[in-house]
Amino acid sequence: MKKISRRQFICGGAACLSAAIASQGFGPIGPGICEAAAVKDIRGKVFKGDAPKKLWKWSREGFLYKKLKNAKVVCGICPNRCILAPGDRSVCRSKVNMNGKLYSLTYGNPCAVNTDPIEKKPLFHFKPRIKAFSLATTGCNFRCLNCQNWEISQARPDEVAPYMRELFPADVVAAAQKAGARSIAYTYSEPITFFEYMIDTARLAGEAGIYNLWISNAYINPKPLLALCKVLDAATLNIKSYDDRIYRQLNGGRLKPVLNTFKTLHDQGIHFEMINLVVPGYTDKEDMVKAMCGWILDNIGPDYPLHFLRFFPRYKLDRLPPTPVSALTRYRELALQQGLHYAYVGNVARHAGNNTYCHNCKRMLIERQGYFIPTYNLVGSHCKFCDTRIPGVWHEATSDVTGKVPL
Ligand code: SF4
Repeated sequence: MKKISRRQFICGGAACLSAAIASQGFGPIGPGICEAAAVKDIRGKVFKGDAPKKLWKWSREGFLYKKLKNAKVVCGICPNRCILAPGDRSVCRSKVNMNGKLYSLTYGNPCAVNTDPIEKKPLFHFKPRIKAFSLATTGCNFRCLNCQNWEISQARPDEVAPYMRELFPADVVAAAQKAGARSIAYTYSEPITFFEYMIDTARLAGEAGIYNLWISNAYINPKPLLALCKVLDAATLNIKSYDDRIYRQLNGGRLKPVLNTFKTLHDQGIHFEMINLVVPGYTDKEDMVKAMCGWILDNIGPDYPLHFLRFFPRYKLDRLPPTPVSALTRYRELALQQGLHYAYVGNVARHAGNNTYCHNCKRMLIERQGYFIPTYNLVGSHCKFCDTRIPGVWHEATSDVTGKVPL
């Protein structure tokens, strides 16, 4: 009989165990699953020879990359660590190797620009009702089957040229000020892929007294993350699932770097909120929600809000039904029962889980109707009823948030 190594034996055992668990309708949980487990990984690939013939006005040399032999380069921004030969385009489609140097192609060239209420991000515990001047370029380092913005996230810059605008960092700050926005949100697609543009803009915005908000899949390497933390005021970060296999199958990423990002922001004292899109058949599992909440409590504590968002059929999962509202209600209850202080239901209008309730006295602090806030019961950063400090970054004056005037 053919001998197998100890490693093969261990991997084989894990694969069998994985299969056995999966056959009961529950995938293995957490990072570090053995590679031998049969999982379809949809991670993106480098586009060989797909770079444009020459650079353009919105090209900038990339930050944090290394030159390798034979004029190849490796990007250090995200865990994909794209290795590009001259003429290649990155997984995120927005970086290329031109003559042995790495270039970003989207610097100062957003394809989506809007002024949104901050609640839309969603950020519920950071300066309610301020405007967020929001922008995105093309590109993403993931391949989510359910992407809501695939027209821009899974496109090359030249494919959406009619929608592009020229806004260099100083122009973004000026445009935000003109729009009366107290914050700039890097959002819609994946800002990690326009890291150079984001961080240069964020530095200028910070100097101008504008808050910087990062809406992201959190799939970033430690070094750029620490650089970003220096200019960041708040973030909304996805936790797509608490299952490394689902990360590979549904998103084309891995779980562990995402969890590391949460721990780093926690260590750096930056307010963030987590979003978990509940995708039927993929991430709608009570045990997974419990394990995710357990990790949150053990590693970053109970004070970071967690939003359970309703899925709607999109992109490659357009035949799935929307998430039942009852499932979202249940997961929010589970999160609160386990000890998280703030859990929300999103993408469901007028659900009680849209509102904020004091984690101590349970009275309603903030009532939300869409992006309106008809009721606001904080005094500074404290509950009006029991004086408990509410985690987050709040206005000093209640008058900043009361009123029913649309933003
Ligand atoms: S940011 Fe883009 S180019 Fe850099 S490693 Fe990630 S996917 Fe590759």
